[in-house]
Amino acid sequence: MFTSLKGRSVIVTGASKGIGRGIALRFGLAGCQLMVVSRRLQEAKRVAAEITAAGGTAEALAADVTRQGDMQAMAQAARDKFGAIDILCANAGIFPASPLATMTEADFDLVMATNLKGTFLAVSACLAAMKEQKRGRIILTSSITGPVTGYSGWSHYGASKAGQLGFMRTAAIELAPHGITVNAVLPGNIATEGLADLGKEYVQAMEASVPMRRLGSVADIANAALFFASDEAAYITGQSLVIDGGQILPESLAAFATDAP
Ligand code: NAP
Repeated sequence: MFTSLKGRSVIVTGASKGIGRGIALRFGLAGCQLMVVSRRLQEAKRVAAEITAAGGTAEALAADVTRQGDMQAMAQAARDKFGAIDILCANAGIFPASPLATMTEADFDLVMATNLKGTFLAVSACLAAMKEQKRGRIILTSSITGPVTGYSGWSHYGASKAGQLGFMRTAAIELAPHGITVNAVLPGNIATEGLADLGKEYVQAMEASVPMRRLGSVADIANAALFFASDEAAYITGQSLVIDGGQILPESLAAFATDAP
């Protein structure tokens, strides 16, 4: 049994849909107070309403993780509404495909600004509150792409997701004396609106490449985030957890043969 997280104040960036929405709903069910953050207020409000309809507590906030002022306003809003920031899920991210041959500087910069700099800005905005409280949980949404694997068209994305882990390791050392842990979830291919945008063909190819023969669910990732946020995970920091149905395991397509020795 895990200690209850009831009443903990949680910020989730990129929570209007996909994995972030799944994380927010899961923490809501655990009795936490949610700050649901995305650029589009109406969409964030919709998720906050889902949480409150399920008996939870949630506020919606429009903020862009690429903007320092927005991230500071986000942290202030959580402190004003809930009196603390116990848990930050730095989840917002984008994954537009762009082969190296045609990738522009703007393509590269946008992915880095959102996925990597956005992580830094969200984390740094929440530090003052967490340090004052002498405790905090920071959970980054990275990916298998970059830290573990590669995929044509996503070199900028892979760099940003591997960069998050480099950031995490030093942040974990710096924040450990303050009772703050920093860990990362590394999703494989998860059924989200963003993934669906990549097309049916991509989704089918991904399903076929997962030993469990299905995409992950947002709940699969949310449960891992919930574990990192738990009191029981207090001594785990600077670590990453792959949640991918075994996708990174096969050495080749031959590894899938059912009659393999
Ligand atoms: P998604 O369905 O496209 O949702 C992305 C979320 O991020 C939305 O809520 C979006 O809301 C928000 N967002 C995007 N840019 C933002 C910005 N600049 N500021 C604030 N919010 C922003 O994506 P997803 O599949 O759930 O992915 C979420 C995270 O998981 C990303 O970090 C992604 O790299 C990672 N991931 C996903 C998968 C997968 O298979 N789905 C696999 C590995 C890793 P607004 O548009 O309203 O701002």
